Amino acid sequence: MSSLEIIKMGHPVLRKIAREMTSEEILSTETKLLVQEMQKAMHTAAGVGLAAPQINRSIQLAIIEYDLKEELPEDADPPLYVFINPKISILDKPQYGFWEGCLSVPGLTGYVERPNKVRVDYIDLEGQAQNLTAEGFAAVIIQHELDHLQGILYVDRLADPTKFAYQEEFQQFWSHEEELE
Ligand code: ZN
Repeated sequence: MSSLEIIKMGHPVLRKIAREMTSEEILSTETKLLVQEMQKAMHTAAGVGLAAPQINRSIQLAIIEYDLKEELPEDADPPLYVFINPKISILDKPQYGFWEGCLSVPGLTGYVERPNKVRVDYIDLEGQAQNLTAEGFAAVIIQHELDHLQGILYVDRLADPTKFAYQEEFQQFWSHEEELE
């Protein structure tokens, strides 16, 4: 399989609600290979998460390579989470703000506020029902990736449209200010 291409904002597939996967599909070799290819594409693009719609597959599947439970030592390799047919619940209303980026919106970053704590119920690559509770940055990544499965991009959730910038300008004008806070 040649390397997967990540589609960008403006591509209509990024705006579709992805369809659920069947148990048969989840357990198929094709899905295991797809996850491997998605992981490669994510590494190439230096991302921590990738949703299937971003590689032009409108299915309820997203991967995240990050210590979402925040329990591993800092130098440990982050685990790969595969979220299939996920359902998200908000556990904590207070908003957590973060400058987000997206492999489908390259070169840009924007300030988004999201609920601080979420629970996800999902199916893993072995077809097993799982759930996970995450807070802070881990909750941001999960919400960002699972939004892709609903046709939502982070730009839809900008808290303040003036806090939307090219990454170079962000580094120049905003990152310093953030550090001072
Ligand atoms: Zn994204």
